[in-house]
Amino acid sequence: MDLRLGRRRFLQLSGATAAAALAPVTTAAAAPSRSRKLPDGVFSLGVASGDPLPDRVVIWTRLAPELLALDGSGGMPTWDVPVQWQVAHDEQFSDVVRAGVVRATRQDAHSVHVDVEGLEPARWYFYRFRVQREISPVGMTRTAPAPGQVPNSWRFAIASCQNYSAGYYTAYQDMLDENPDIVFHLGDYIYEGGAQGSLGRGHVPSHEVRDLAGYRVRLAQYRSDPDLMAMHAGAPFTVTFDDHEVENNWTAEDADPDVPAEEFARRKAEAFKAYWEHMPLREAQRPSGSRIQLYRRLHWGDLATINVLDTRQYRSDQVSDPEAHSPEAWDPDRKMLGDTQMQWLLDDLAASSARWNVLAQQVPFFEDPDVGLESDKWDGYRVPRQRVLDELASGRARNPLVLSGDIHANRAADIKADFQNPESVTVGAEFTGTSISSGGDSEQTADFDPDPDNPHIRLKGNGRGYVSFRVTAQECRGDFRLVDTVERPTSSARTAASFVIEDGVPGLTRA
Ligand code: FE
Ligand code: CA
Repeated sequence: MDLRLGRRRFLQLSGATAAAALAPVTTAAAAPSRSRKLPDGVFSLGVASGDPLPDRVVIWTRLAPELLALDGSGGMPTWDVPVQWQVAHDEQFSDVVRAGVVRATRQDAHSVHVDVEGLEPARWYFYRFRVQREISPVGMTRTAPAPGQVPNSWRFAIASCQNYSAGYYTAYQDMLDENPDIVFHLGDYIYEGGAQGSLGRGHVPSHEVRDLAGYRVRLAQYRSDPDLMAMHAGAPFTVTFDDHEVENNWTAEDADPDVPAEEFARRKAEAFKAYWEHMPLREAQRPSGSRIQLYRRLHWGDLATINVLDTRQYRSDQVSDPEAHSPEAWDPDRKMLGDTQMQWLLDDLAASSARWNVLAQQVPFFEDPDVGLESDKWDGYRVPRQRVLDELASGRARNPLVLSGDIHANRAADIKADFQNPESVTVGAEFTGTSISSGGDSEQTADFDPDPDNPHIRLKGNGRGYVSFRVTAQECRGDFRLVDTVERPTSSARTAASFVIEDGVPGLTRA
């Protein structure tokens, strides 16, 4: 099968026919469990994969026959369940290359995360799971190119801000047709509040979630969306969270100063646990109490290094006085990444030999003087931002590319060595992707003109969608894809604007 042409069609077919058409898995280790029969429909959350390396990728599922059960159990019994898994070269699973059995435990909400090793670099694979007589839908995933390899082309997409109650995920329908090699989710994967919206997609439960059961139900509800499920089945994701996976605008402290530290630590621990359970993350990302190691690094051969950042867990509180020239914003003691992550990032940028150096992260990095100081963005953390800018200005990291989300609007910006000085040199480029659904159709206004007062901001636009990228050794092209509506289950989509970065030439060119 030509994966480039047929991914959506393949996934539709396999989802409909997998359980009926595929022979039982015959792995020696997979002796039938003597345990009791499970309810039907254990694979209602589909399958996913993530964080591809040259020789391995994580494959994921969670058994949940009753995915909105308010106790967070997914309708599963308390006992552990053996889950068989297979990875194959072909969609018929006649050429299985890896297989095994993993236990789905009550402790992990019957989620499984298999770090499948021993794979070939830069190759697509098919995978599936089996429990008793049920076989999961088939997923497609791939490995990264090996060190030294420079693929002819790398396709990826960025997504953020997918408020379930605010709209259908029509953007993911279009994204699947763009055939990305990998999707970077930059945060606000869920929203913690109880909004009901007007589309019959009200949040379950109907109040703000604050504990493990609540976060589990909320994540399961989001993951039950058929378009999101299809995208997860169609390509690996690399995810990082922003604020709403826990609470609006949280930092190293709770957003509400009246909440005791122990109470916020408990809430974080339970939010992180449910997040890990529902994401295709490695064991290395399994949270330990109220801490999670979410910042990490991926490589796409020698073409790109991707630094996946965590701009929430270690940051100082937002400035109390968000005036444009607030001296507080320049306080050298204020953190955005924390000392350890900052050094980890700067050391890599200084030594990187990658053609493209990508920062996949949450909140916008560029400064927009028109809107004053934006206290939750990098703008409110100017000393750490300047440390990163100084490293980028040194030129040691080739072709810096910052990817952001959070603001529910599209922005393309040149990154200046000093945002306080519009005459300073351009050192890189940033794409801020709009929301998948947050804001709904109501914020659909189009303003794609350059801003004459702020020439480093190359595009300002609203609307729902995402950004689709195609990267070669010579250039990086980003297409701002917009859907016409998120208030109906399907939509057409179009490219609203495209920008190109040429190798060795900092800054954006409108294509
Ligand atoms: Fe958001
Ligand atoms: Ca956010």
